[in-house]
Amino acid sequence: MKYYDKLIFELSRQGRIGYSLPDSFESEEGLSAIPSDLLRQSAPDLPEVSEVDVVRHYTNLSQMNFGVDTGFYPLGSCTMKYNPKINEEVVSLFNGLHPLQPKETVKGAEQVLEEMDKALAAITGMKHFTFLPCAGAHGELTGLMLMREYHFSRNDMARTKVIVPDSAHGTNPASAAVCGLEIVEVKSNADGLIDVEALKPLLGDDIAGIMMTNPNTLGLFEKDIREIATLVHGCGGLLYYDGANMNPLMGVVRPGDMGFDIMHLNLHKTFSTPHGGGGPGSGPVGVADRIVPFLQVLRVSGFHGNFGVILRAYAYILMLGRENVKMAGRLATLGANYIKESLKDCYKLPIQTVCKHEFVFDGLINDGAREGVAGATTLDVAKRLLDYGFHAPTIYFPLLFHQAIMIEPTETESLETLDAFIDVMRKIAAEAAEDPQLLHTAPHNTPIGRPDETAAARQPILTFSGKVS
Ligand SMILES: *Cc1c(COP(=O)(O)O)cnc(C)c1O
Repeated sequence: MKYYDKLIFELSRQGRIGYSLPDSFESEEGLSAIPSDLLRQSAPDLPEVSEVDVVRHYTNLSQMNFGVDTGFYPLGSCTMKYNPKINEEVVSLFNGLHPLQPKETVKGAEQVLEEMDKALAAITGMKHFTFLPCAGAHGELTGLMLMREYHFSRNDMARTKVIVPDSAHGTNPASAAVCGLEIVEVKSNADGLIDVEALKPLLGDDIAGIMMTNPNTLGLFEKDIREIATLVHGCGGLLYYDGANMNPLMGVVRPGDMGFDIMHLNLHKTFSTPHGGGGPGSGPVGVADRIVPFLQVLRVSGFHGNFGVILRAYAYILMLGRENVKMAGRLATLGANYIKESLKDCYKLPIQTVCKHEFVFDGLINDGAREGVAGATTLDVAKRLLDYGFHAPTIYFPLLFHQAIMIEPTETESLETLDAFIDVMRKIAAEAAEDPQLLHTAPHNTPIGRPDETAAARQPILTFSGKVS
């Protein structure tokens, strides 16, 4: 263990201090400015360290983490694309803006929201957007609330069910349930697309609408979307589009033209902006003409949502411009197909067709299993990738395949990076065939090996229980 891998509490030495304050601050006089009932009775148990120890502590911690800025991050369904640093520059121009300051002093911010509304409307074919929702799932809930308002406004009160494909992102049924809607699942066919024949009998006057992702979670374009739209509209339902991963379609086709009535975008995926770890997001909801009147009644967050995220997306769109926005999705699609074709002799490819921005393998073809030796699993492959300096793809999702490995390279990676990833994936496949034990015990080169992930999530240890020296 390196010295600075120690907890900051273990670096602490009594009386060591990294700052100095004017004498008056800690005098009776200085403290008397604070009402006595707000003053604590005893000093907090904080580590006592010098400034450089603090800097090293946090810098080292940051380097134990993995981010798009440190390596390739092919996390399917999450679009971990690079966040250009100019985005941060633009955000810094708006530093100091306060949501309660007079309206006439925030004209620039208002203009950003108006221009973003226009840009997203042009990209998606929707009429208008609301920027209130602070995440994709928040957008879904907002969109479903709008769907319900629409039906209520027509005195159509019996529409309590929403259709969700079995390949859907987990947030779709969750948002529907939170909205008080009943979920009806529609099956996928062998090609990984919605089975239109299975959809027909589900339609009726109790259906509020359908939630769809297109391309769906398998990275496949639902080519029957026109027919599906006609069928759902025919029974009086609406079409909701989960546009979290709109990346491959930008500038190619528009949900509005496919027949969708309501949708959300994840600005923190499709339009760069950093995300992960539950950090700030933005899930603006766009609506077709007939839903626009209901936007005004929405109160799903304060002020204008996560303005910093909206700004980054705005900078990204302006920087690319109309022509290059179109290129992003095409390059992402090309990259995904390149990886898929380069690895399909080592990894099982359940769906062979051309994919969009992402695709799914179903584990290794030769996992090294033989008598008395367990084969390498998808988890083993994912852990071994960390040893080679790549973030793992999304694994065990979607649930349609037992050993799912879902890969999404995004357009921001060079051919050389894709080739390096392909090389490593092939090397891991060879290791699995020869010595699956090497994979079972991976990762070998990271600060932490294999934590008990369930315990880490359910019973995290968040406090230091030792003694500060
Ligand atoms: C990420 C994602 C969501 C949820 O977005 P959050 O911002 O994490 O709430 C919904 N649908 C799809 C398809 C996604 O990839």
